[in-house]
Amino acid sequence: MKVMKFGGTSVGKPERMHEVAQLITKDAEPKVVVLSALSGTTNALVEISNSLSTGNREAAKQKIDTLEAHYRTFITELVKQEGSRAKANAIITEHFEFLNIILRISFSEALYKDILAQGELMSTKLFSVYLEEQGIDHMLLPALEFMSIDASEEPQLGTIKAKLGQLLKQYHDKKLFITQGYICRNAKGEVDNLKRGGSDYTASLVAAAINASVCEIWTDIDGMHNNDPRIVDKTVAIKQLSFDEAAELAYFGAKILHPTCIWPAQQENVPVKLLNTMQPDASGTVITKEAGSTGVKAVAAKDGITAIKIKSSRMLLAYGFLRKVFEVFEKYQTSIDMITTSEVAVSVTIDSDAALPKIVKELEPFGSVEVQKDQTIVSIVGNEISETDDVLHKLFDAVREVPVTMVSYGGSPHNISMLVPSAHKTKTLQLLNKGLFGL
Ligand code: ASP
Ligand code: MG
Repeated sequence: MKVMKFGGTSVGKPERMHEVAQLITKDAEPKVVVLSALSGTTNALVEISNSLSTGNREAAKQKIDTLEAHYRTFITELVKQEGSRAKANAIITEHFEFLNIILRISFSEALYKDILAQGELMSTKLFSVYLEEQGIDHMLLPALEFMSIDASEEPQLGTIKAKLGQLLKQYHDKKLFITQGYICRNAKGEVDNLKRGGSDYTASLVAAAINASVCEIWTDIDGMHNNDPRIVDKTVAIKQLSFDEAAELAYFGAKILHPTCIWPAQQENVPVKLLNTMQPDASGTVITKEAGSTGVKAVAAKDGITAIKIKSSRMLLAYGFLRKVFEVFEKYQTSIDMITTSEVAVSVTIDSDAALPKIVKELEPFGSVEVQKDQTIVSIVGNEISETDDVLHKLFDAVREVPVTMVSYGGSPHNISMLVPSAHKTKTLQLLNKGLFGL
């Protein structure tokens, strides 16, 4: 059995949905197909919620109506038969009635999650109507019946495995299952989600839970690229990556994949393929246990980073200093990305400023604290790069003109990270493209 996941743009137009139907019926292997909401929908639902939470019902109503109109038009192209249109219209009516009822009740966090879930619920139901019209036998699997997170918002693979396994057994005569990405139930049994972009995570969890032959992530780009195509002119798709390399890249900024979505597939050793709906025959990027080749594979950048430097002469020959520093970050649930130390100072980076003033205040008794905002982590990712000839030389040669603030090397054999002021990001990525890839 395999998993195929289609993102918002892959289902965002009626003709795209038609193409998805073709892609999922190309071969006879049984599948679970995971769909995102139509592109733009989740953003619209967030905006509707924001208007509601600030008590602006009128604005919310307007946004609901605009979104509804979009869906009504969408289905006229999606399905042609009268019966299918009636079914599709009934689905839209049901979900927009729900949104309109919400206008009249008081807003809460649980309600917010309910609103956000409407996108995936509609995309899968409408797709199902289309498949039915085409006479394609399938089964709609409600993600809310098997996808769950615990009290610390972590998906529980064991539970998902058991529940999904049971559902699939119940419908063992079916070969094609359609389910919602992103949405789940939380520890309280309420509707919740796996955070923005979480459909990839759903796909990886489902793939791990059913021990799929492959987890295919279909988007609108032909795989993971060696550099950011929005910034650098010439980039190429990477043929093969290891799970570790892919996780580093996703975390450090390659937007194509949700950063936490690698671990379930990795845990069950299910290969992940990144494929392009617009060029279905392109080979894309394959992510497996093996890296395929050694050396530098890609460069990725993560913005919005703050560097904090703690300098103390008391650190000299002292033990326990780092523990005290890290405890402050732990206390404020702020994760650290990069660390460098010298004998009298330690620098760390964080990607959330939410608790910054409190953190700085608690660090001050340890020594002088310096904060640098608007930094970017530029990560060089590959396989055994520390053992690759000449990498450091090429790297530092390439960034000669960049005021690098921090360098982290040796923490993992797959990564070298540099911190640069965000204003120098574009130039850094361009210089590295030339220096490391000759592009
Ligand atoms: N629809 C959700 C979002 O836009 C989940 C996803 O697309 O992966 O964040
Ligand atoms: Mg999306």
